[in-house]
Amino acid sequence: MFILFTVESKFRKMQRVTASILRFINHIRPNGQRQHRYGPLLIEELAQATLALASFVQKEAFPVNFHHLSVGQELHRKSKLIPFKVFLDTSRFTVPRIGGRICQAALPVCQKHPIVLTSDHPFTHALIRSYHEDRYELMHAPPQMFLSALRRRFWVLNGRSVVRKIIRRCVICFRAKSVLMQQKMDGLPRSRLEGVYPFLNTGVDFCGPMYIRQHSKRSFLHHKQGAIPIPKDEARRDDWCEKSAIEWHLIPPRSPHFGGLWEAGVRSTKYHLKRITGTANMNLEQYTTVLTRIEAILNSRPTYI
Ligand SMILES: [Zn+2]
Repeated sequence: MFILFTVESKFRKMQRVTASILRFINHIRPNGQRQHRYGPLLIEELAQATLALASFVQKEAFPVNFHHLSVGQELHRKSKLIPFKVFLDTSRFTVPRIGGRICQAALPVCQKHPIVLTSDHPFTHALIRSYHEDRYELMHAPPQMFLSALRRRFWVLNGRSVVRKIIRRCVICFRAKSVLMQQKMDGLPRSRLEGVYPFLNTGVDFCGPMYIRQHSKRSFLHHKQGAIPIPKDEARRDDWCEKSAIEWHLIPPRSPHFGGLWEAGVRSTKYHLKRITGTANMNLEQYTTVLTRIEAILNSRPTYI
């Protein structure tokens, strides 16, 4: 059996090989005790194979504890199994199970008394990998959720760290969780650090295009009285800025990291816009109304955000 753990790292294969061996043993039993089974392996046979493997692994991992439990002696006071009130289940294969405090619960035995498994055995690692990758109800679940599902049948000693370690090695999870390279941020510009009146330094961002139903020739939506339309062509804008005593800076194209403050404003606007409009095709008045309402929401935020 030990050779199986050294040559095979897939739990399902271990399980199927063991189930086939058990079927063979069953076939060579004396007449009257044998059950003839042919064809594909049954679910029951696979479950028995898992029990047989778990039994073998625990006998190998905790020989002294196993002996004490099998002869009805107390465990050694330094045994790792002491806190779990472990007992031996001898109904089919001899496996150590957690005693626990939920004996009275209306749950299946395997859930009330999960099988104890050592954390540093190839079988335990293969089992965790298989649960993580193959079980359709887990689908590469994160460690905490995975552990609670696993504990319905198996109690892996020091389980949290083993599960984390194995999930960290999962290629699919690693790819899905990959973090993009981050830009190294420079110091903030002077305008962001000066204590000045509100809107002395301000930014304008054109986030769009936004498609609306009704065509409009207006280039700037000034739905509020007092808003100043900024000329859109460069020459007129420079002229207008000079007359209004405004210093105008443009950031390089496709460089949103230059204008983090107003890019965040665009994101906040789009957050509401996407949720409210969805795929609706609105006209100018409806669009302006929605934008004004979003503006009111954003302006109601406290100034320290
Ligand atoms: Zn995964």
